[in-house]
Amino acid sequence: MLLSGGIDSATALYLTRKERPVRALTFAYHGIAGQELESAKAIAAEAKVTEHRLVRLPDLKEAGDIAGARFGGLPPTYVPLRNSIFYSFAASYAEESGASLIVGGHNRDDERIFDDVSSGFFASLERAFLAASPILRRNRVRISRPLGSRSKPEVIRLASSLRVPLELTWSCHREGINHCWECDGCLMRAKSFASAGVTDPLAPKRRGKIT
Ligand SMILES: [Zn+2]
Repeated sequence: MLLSGGIDSATALYLTRKERPVRALTFAYHGIAGQELESAKAIAAEAKVTEHRLVRLPDLKEAGDIAGARFGGLPPTYVPLRNSIFYSFAASYAEESGASLIVGGHNRDDERIFDDVSSGFFASLERAFLAASPILRRNRVRISRPLGSRSKPEVIRLASSLRVPLELTWSCHREGINHCWECDGCLMRAKSFASAGVTDPLAPKRRGKIT
Protein backbone atom coordinates (compact mmCIF):
# COMPACT_ATOMS: atom_id res chain seq x y z
CA MET A 1 0.00 0.00 0.00
CA LEU A 2 0.99 3.62 -0.55
CA LEU A 3 2.04 5.24 2.71
CA SER A 4 2.77 8.91 3.35
CA GLY A 5 3.14 10.30 6.84
CA GLY A 6 -0.44 11.59 6.78
CA ILE A 7 -3.54 10.59 8.71
CA ASP A 8 -5.39 9.13 5.72
CA SER A 9 -2.79 6.61 4.60
CA ALA A 10 -2.06 5.62 8.22
CA THR A 11 -5.78 4.91 8.70
CA ALA A 12 -5.99 2.93 5.45
CA LEU A 13 -2.97 0.92 6.60
CA TYR A 14 -4.53 0.06 9.96
CA LEU A 15 -7.80 -0.86 8.26
CA THR A 16 -6.03 -3.10 5.72
CA ARG A 17 -3.73 -4.85 8.17
CA LYS A 18 -6.74 -6.25 10.01
CA GLU A 19 -7.30 -8.53 7.02
CA ARG A 20 -3.93 -9.17 5.41
CA PRO A 21 -0.17 -8.65 5.69
CA VAL A 22 0.84 -5.26 4.29
CA ARG A 23 3.88 -3.97 2.41
CA ALA A 24 4.25 -0.20 2.39
CA LEU A 25 5.66 2.09 -0.28
CA THR A 26 6.65 5.70 0.45
CA PHE A 27 7.74 8.26 -2.14
CA ALA A 28 10.47 10.75 -1.32
CA TYR A 29 9.85 13.38 -3.99
CA HIS A 30 11.43 16.81 -4.10
CA GLY A 31 10.02 19.17 -1.49
CA ILE A 32 8.30 16.61 0.73
CA ALA A 33 8.78 17.59 4.38
CA GLY A 34 11.59 15.54 5.94
CA GLN A 35 9.43 14.97 8.97
CA GLU A 36 6.70 13.44 6.80
CA LEU A 37 9.15 10.75 5.69
CA GLU A 38 10.13 10.16 9.31
CA SER A 39 6.43 9.84 10.17
CA ALA A 40 5.91 7.28 7.40
CA LYS A 41 8.82 5.21 8.72
CA ALA A 42 7.52 5.40 12.30
CA ILE A 43 3.96 4.44 11.28
CA ALA A 44 5.19 1.52 9.17
CA ALA A 45 7.31 0.27 12.08
CA GLU A 46 4.46 0.66 14.59
CA ALA A 47 2.06 -1.20 12.26
CA LYS A 48 4.66 -3.95 11.78
CA VAL A 49 4.41 -4.03 7.98
CA THR A 50 6.10 -6.88 6.15
CA GLU A 51 8.36 -4.44 4.30
CA HIS A 52 8.59 -0.65 4.01
CA ARG A 53 10.18 0.50 0.78
CA LEU A 54 11.26 4.09 0.18
CA VAL A 55 11.27 5.23 -3.46
CA ARG A 56 13.46 8.28 -4.11
CA LEU A 57 12.16 10.63 -6.81
CA PRO A 58 14.24 13.82 -6.39
CA ASP A 59 13.32 15.13 -9.84
CA LEU A 60 9.58 15.00 -9.16
CA LYS A 61 8.57 18.41 -7.78
CA GLU A 62 5.50 20.12 -6.39
CA ALA A 63 3.95 22.75 -8.67
CA GLY A 64 5.10 25.51 -6.31
CA ASP A 65 8.73 24.45 -6.80
CA ILE A 66 8.66 24.39 -10.61
CA ALA A 67 9.78 27.75 -12.00
CA GLY A 68 7.66 29.11 -14.84
CA ALA A 69 5.20 26.21 -14.95
CA ARG A 70 1.46 26.93 -15.03
CA PHE A 71 -0.95 24.66 -13.21
CA GLY A 72 -4.03 26.90 -13.23
CA GLY A 73 -6.40 26.31 -10.34
CA LEU A 74 -4.33 23.60 -8.67
CA PRO A 75 -2.67 24.14 -5.27
CA PRO A 76 1.14 24.63 -5.01
CA THR A 77 1.36 21.20 -3.38
CA TYR A 78 0.12 19.56 -6.61
CA VAL A 79 2.69 17.15 -8.05
CA PRO A 80 2.26 16.73 -11.84
CA LEU A 81 0.69 13.34 -12.58
CA ARG A 82 1.64 12.19 -9.10
CA ASN A 83 -0.73 9.28 -8.83
CA SER A 84 0.02 7.96 -12.34
CA ILE A 85 3.65 7.71 -11.24
CA PHE A 86 3.10 6.49 -7.67
CA TYR A 87 0.59 3.79 -8.61
CA SER A 88 2.81 2.57 -11.45
CA PHE A 89 5.54 1.97 -8.86
CA ALA A 90 2.97 0.28 -6.63
CA ALA A 91 1.85 -2.00 -9.49
CA SER A 92 5.47 -2.90 -10.19
CA TYR A 93 5.93 -3.70 -6.49
CA ALA A 94 2.73 -5.79 -6.54
CA GLU A 95 4.02 -7.71 -9.55
CA GLU A 96 7.32 -8.35 -7.77
CA SER A 97 5.83 -9.29 -4.40
CA GLY A 98 2.74 -11.18 -5.59
CA ALA A 99 0.31 -8.76 -3.90
CA SER A 100 -3.27 -8.78 -5.15
CA LEU A 101 -4.39 -5.44 -3.72
CA ILE A 102 -2.93 -1.95 -4.13
CA VAL A 103 -4.29 0.32 -1.39
CA GLY A 104 -4.38 4.11 -1.35
CA GLY A 105 -5.61 6.28 1.51
CA HIS A 106 -7.51 8.94 -0.45
CA ASN A 107 -10.56 10.40 1.22
CA ARG A 108 -13.74 11.78 -0.37
CA ASP A 109 -12.52 15.38 -0.24
CA ASP A 110 -9.36 14.64 -2.28
CA GLU A 111 -11.42 13.75 -5.34
CA ARG A 112 -12.93 17.24 -5.44
CA ILE A 113 -9.50 18.80 -5.93
CA PHE A 114 -7.48 16.33 -7.98
CA ASP A 115 -8.58 14.48 -11.14
CA ASP A 116 -6.00 11.77 -10.46
CA VAL A 117 -7.93 10.66 -7.37
CA SER A 118 -11.19 10.10 -9.27
CA SER A 119 -12.94 6.75 -9.65
CA GLY A 120 -12.61 7.04 -13.43
CA PHE A 121 -8.87 7.52 -13.19
CA PHE A 122 -8.38 4.48 -10.95
CA ALA A 123 -10.63 2.27 -13.09
CA SER A 124 -8.57 3.21 -16.17
CA LEU A 125 -5.31 2.64 -14.34
CA GLU A 126 -6.44 -0.77 -13.11
CA ARG A 127 -7.31 -1.80 -16.67
CA ALA A 128 -3.93 -0.52 -17.91
CA PHE A 129 -2.05 -2.56 -15.29
CA LEU A 130 -4.00 -5.71 -16.07
CA ALA A 131 -3.33 -5.19 -19.80
CA ALA A 132 0.37 -4.74 -19.05
CA SER A 133 1.08 -7.79 -16.94
CA PRO A 134 0.06 -11.49 -17.04
CA ILE A 135 1.19 -11.71 -13.39
CA LEU A 136 -1.15 -8.92 -12.30
CA ARG A 137 -3.95 -10.55 -14.34
CA ARG A 138 -3.31 -13.93 -12.73
CA ASN A 139 -3.34 -12.34 -9.25
CA ARG A 140 -6.44 -10.29 -10.16
CA VAL A 141 -4.83 -7.15 -8.85
CA ARG A 142 -7.22 -4.40 -7.79
CA ILE A 143 -6.75 -0.83 -6.60
CA SER A 144 -8.60 -0.26 -3.34
CA ARG A 145 -9.44 3.08 -1.72
CA PRO A 146 -11.10 2.08 1.55
CA LEU A 147 -11.56 5.71 2.66
CA GLY A 148 -12.98 6.93 -0.66
CA SER A 149 -16.48 7.56 0.71
CA ARG A 150 -15.35 9.27 3.93
CA SER A 151 -14.71 12.94 4.69
CA LYS A 152 -11.57 13.90 6.61
CA PRO A 153 -13.36 14.20 9.98
CA GLU A 154 -14.93 10.76 9.36
CA VAL A 155 -11.47 9.35 8.65
CA ILE A 156 -10.21 10.82 11.94
CA ARG A 157 -13.07 9.21 13.87
CA LEU A 158 -12.30 5.87 12.17
CA ALA A 159 -8.59 6.30 12.98
CA SER A 160 -9.46 6.89 16.60
CA SER A 161 -11.56 3.69 16.74
CA LEU A 162 -8.77 1.67 15.05
CA ARG A 163 -6.18 3.06 17.50
CA VAL A 164 -4.08 4.51 14.70
CA PRO A 165 -1.02 6.18 16.32
CA LEU A 166 -2.16 9.69 15.37
CA GLU A 167 0.72 11.15 17.37
CA LEU A 168 3.08 9.72 14.72
CA THR A 169 1.29 11.31 11.74
CA TRP A 170 2.43 14.47 9.98
CA SER A 171 0.26 17.09 8.23
CA CYS A 172 2.53 20.17 8.00
CA HIS A 173 3.81 21.37 4.61
CA ARG A 174 6.86 23.08 6.10
CA GLU A 175 10.18 21.78 7.32
CA GLY A 176 10.56 21.57 11.09
CA ILE A 177 10.57 19.28 14.09
CA ASN A 178 7.04 20.25 15.08
CA HIS A 179 3.89 21.25 13.16
CA CYS A 180 3.83 25.02 12.46
CA TRP A 181 0.02 25.31 12.93
CA GLU A 182 -0.01 28.07 10.29
CA CYS A 183 0.23 26.35 6.87
CA ASP A 184 -2.75 24.94 4.93
CA GLY A 185 -1.91 21.39 6.02
CA CYS A 186 -1.85 22.33 9.70
CA LEU A 187 -5.00 24.48 9.51
CA MET A 188 -6.87 21.66 7.76
CA ARG A 189 -5.67 19.20 10.41
CA ALA A 190 -6.87 21.42 13.29
CA LYS A 191 -10.25 22.04 11.59
CA SER A 192 -10.78 18.35 10.83
CA PHE A 193 -10.00 17.16 14.37
CA ALA A 194 -12.34 19.82 15.79
CA SER A 195 -15.07 18.76 13.38
CA ALA A 196 -14.51 15.07 14.25
CA GLY A 197 -14.71 15.78 17.98
CA VAL A 198 -11.41 13.96 18.50
CA THR A 199 -8.49 15.39 20.49
CA ASP A 200 -5.34 15.73 18.38
CA PRO A 201 -2.42 14.33 20.40
CA LEU A 202 -0.15 16.79 18.56
CA ALA A 203 -2.21 19.94 19.13
CA PRO A 204 -0.38 22.66 21.04
CA LYS A 205 -1.57 22.90 24.62
CA ARG A 206 -3.86 25.85 25.21
CA ARG A 207 -2.84 28.25 27.91
CA GLY A 208 -5.26 28.52 30.78
CA LYS A 209 -7.15 31.72 31.34
CA ILE A 210 -5.22 34.38 33.11
CA THR A 211 -7.16 35.56 36.13
ZN1 LIG B 1 2.27 23.57 9.06
